[in-house]
Amino acid sequence: MPKKPTKRGFKVWTWCGVSAFVYEMILHHGSPKSISNELALPDRSLKQFGSSGLVVLDLVKDVPVVFAIFIDNYFASTKLIKKLTQLGYRITCTLRSNRTEKCLISTEQEFSKKQRGYYEYFISKDKTCIVVGWKDSKRVLLDSNHAGIEPKTKLKRWDKEKRCRVDIVAPQIINNYNKFMGGVNNMDMLIAFHPIPFKSKRWYSRIIWRILDVMIINSWIIRNSRLCGHNSYSSASHGKFRLFHFKSEIAKFLLTKPNLQIFSTTTVSSSIDVYQSDEENEPPTKTLREARSSVTDVTQYDNSNHWPLFISAPNNTRCKNDNCSGKIYWQCSKCNVHLCLNSSKNCFNEYHTHK
Ligand SMILES: [Zn+2]
Ligand SMILES: [Zn+2]
Repeated sequence: MPKKPTKRGFKVWTWCGVSAFVYEMILHHGSPKSISNELALPDRSLKQFGSSGLVVLDLVKDVPVVFAIFIDNYFASTKLIKKLTQLGYRITCTLRSNRTEKCLISTEQEFSKKQRGYYEYFISKDKTCIVVGWKDSKRVLLDSNHAGIEPKTKLKRWDKEKRCRVDIVAPQIINNYNKFMGGVNNMDMLIAFHPIPFKSKRWYSRIIWRILDVMIINSWIIRNSRLCGHNSYSSASHGKFRLFHFKSEIAKFLLTKPNLQIFSTTTVSSSIDVYQSDEENEPPTKTLREARSSVTDVTQYDNSNHWPLFISAPNNTRCKNDNCSGKIYWQCSKCNVHLCLNSSKNCFNEYHTHK
């Protein structure tokens, strides 16, 4: 996608709530050839919405009709708005000048001569949609089937000549769009704050990690909305419990519950002495042998709560660090294996550091 900030990579289309909660994602796989059958449109008439418009039609198929939908100018066209109006949705969107279908609104040059706050509007023949042109720093085009001009609002803007902030008149549609648009951008921002670091270059693992990230952020949004004690999600409630803390709580929980880590551990290598008992050191009645293989990689390198314990026993035990045959009384409290820890050797540190 040459015009997008990230030109190469995987593109995921989503519909988000105002709170940034992701309701659905679709992985972009080239221009959609067909969409949900419920719309029952012949293939020829699908072309008029463009490939970006088809993405919207595909995404809205699971959106309840009572919802108001806000769409940015990458997707929107007057044809798409008409179709969504027929389907029963409330829509507000920004428009590109080449997607207004011969609407007689003044051109950008004509708008540039007008004062800031100037607006024009045209209503469709069937009186369902309105196209509004509004002069901010330059012309902005919007289209809606439920928000229009009245009641007008005022927006603060910086005036270069007066060198102060001044009030600019704005039609209601602007206020409406600014207030409810931006869920998807918010989600992008939240993911960018603390992305899950991973090194794998495999394409599918990137997608899986991204899905996991979205799931965590969705849970965080729900948790925050519960903390606020109201059912409606709003972006204002994001501040109650920081995302960073939420993510680190999850990480801590996973690290302290090794039983949850059910994914397979590394295979037993020859250096691991599963069957090699410390016969000379341990009483023969003891059935549970200390073995390195019982420690998962995840636990060994999790950097959390590994403490040296001095084990009082009649004899010392062999160190379980690779290529070490030292005999000591020190054990790791989490891994339950003996490791050298003295003035000349620190297998304890070595054992817990990933090579
Ligand atoms: Zn340990
Ligand atoms: Zn050692």
